[in-house]
Amino acid sequence: AIPRPADIFGAQRRNSKGWDITDPVTLAEVTEERARFDAPHQWRAGAGSKTRAVVNPARPMEIVGEVSEASTAAVGKAVDAAVKAQPGWEKTPVATRAAALLRAADLYEEDAVEFFALCAREAGKVLADGVAEVREAADFLRYYAGQAAEVERHTTARGVIACISPWNFPLAIFTGQIAAALVTGNTVVAKPAEQTPLIAARAVELLHEAGIPKDVLQLLPGDGPSVGGPLTADPRIAGVCFTGSTDVARLIERQIAETADPDAMLIAETGGLNAMIVDSTALPEQAVRDIVASAFQSAGQRCSALRVLYVQKDVEAKVLEMLTGAMQALRLGDPALISTDVGPVIDDEARDNLTGYCADMEKKGRLVARLDTPSEGRFVAPHIFRVEGIGEMEREMFGPILHVATFAADNIDKVISDINAKGYGLTFGLHTRIEVRVQHIVDGIHAGNIYVNRNQIGAVVGSQPFGGEGLSGTGPKAGGPSYLRRFRKGEVTALAP
Ligand code: GLU
Repeated sequence: AIPRPADIFGAQRRNSKGWDITDPVTLAEVTEERARFDAPHQWRAGAGSKTRAVVNPARPMEIVGEVSEASTAAVGKAVDAAVKAQPGWEKTPVATRAAALLRAADLYEEDAVEFFALCAREAGKVLADGVAEVREAADFLRYYAGQAAEVERHTTARGVIACISPWNFPLAIFTGQIAAALVTGNTVVAKPAEQTPLIAARAVELLHEAGIPKDVLQLLPGDGPSVGGPLTADPRIAGVCFTGSTDVARLIERQIAETADPDAMLIAETGGLNAMIVDSTALPEQAVRDIVASAFQSAGQRCSALRVLYVQKDVEAKVLEMLTGAMQALRLGDPALISTDVGPVIDDEARDNLTGYCADMEKKGRLVARLDTPSEGRFVAPHIFRVEGIGEMEREMFGPILHVATFAADNIDKVISDINAKGYGLTFGLHTRIEVRVQHIVDGIHAGNIYVNRNQIGAVVGSQPFGGEGLSGTGPKAGGPSYLRRFRKGEVTALAP
């Protein structure tokens, strides 16, 4: 098990005067881990020609590494090599393929502190989120390794899979896609998000070290037009596994439809306009804690994050008062500090888009509460805005911005139909203590992941498979029992739900 960040850095052994040195062995270990975390690294990714610096989103003057992006010509070469390597990899016994994944999970955990540092410096992730990344990545590796033999029985591998992953889970989703494709006998060409190539490169080093041959897993850092587009348009690609925006998913879908292989598969996990309903029987302390986590953890940069909160009118004043109080207690800042709750957003484009939206909403008189945004770095402070309902939301705002609407008890069916009418269907949260209401709402809402009386983020591999319906994705759910089958051809009946 990976220790929580507080254990790693000894926060719980720290008093107001500094380290508690009653246990010198522990202190030495803690200091060593922290030193590894703080060590100035110059990470590198890629072997292409176009080299650029990767900066820390919390301090854009700080260069954390360098990426040499792949050219379009390199895409074709990578696919050549992947096509050649595929039959041999498929013939490799499934137990050997699975063992490599298990070994990789161990290596990820041994290397956890370097990943925490990378997650903080390259992706702006606070320590708790960095820990969750490594755990989830290791979970994916172990979970899919455990399922592979069963899935292999009556099916064959597809061939070469293009894995295109997002910056918001630069290790977990990146690894999950690759692990699923590899363990089922496919070879992989992976394009990580432009913003997070360094984490991807370190992960691929460890996967190679764990026994995955170089041509079986290749990494092509670069942007959509020069790498992602040509990769998904290559007719030799047998499938694409994509997590990102709904618009890009549509583009890929069209491209696949035009390729020579009519059987090419697409798994797309996209955005959402996620809602939560809190009724007057909810426990306000619990609801508020879960609202704060759902809306503001990871600076709201999760596709599962809460965007529109519906509070029953009778409890609105109380919930809002507690919610704004809880929001005031959040600390915005350097993700490498234990005390930070909300780190930066990923890049200038994200910051400008979000701050522009917030300014506009403030001008319209919608502001309920907000924190102050630091002038340095790519920060967007948590904001709460008032809306009439989800109907007026034009798009997903991918940041720490929560919208609040109210409803009357006799109007709950209208809320359900308004939420469904947006066409997304990723996560949904509900706080109520009325059992029949739980059943009624859960039956009515179209969403892949519904959470009752808890927060609506942080699905756990194996026990909470994650994925959406409608505009939110194609299914099957990642970390669930049907996922691996999509990476094989042949018998696909009797899918688990
Ligand atoms: N699996 C993550 C969660 O449950 C969200 C994944 C995403 O943002 O793409 O919070």
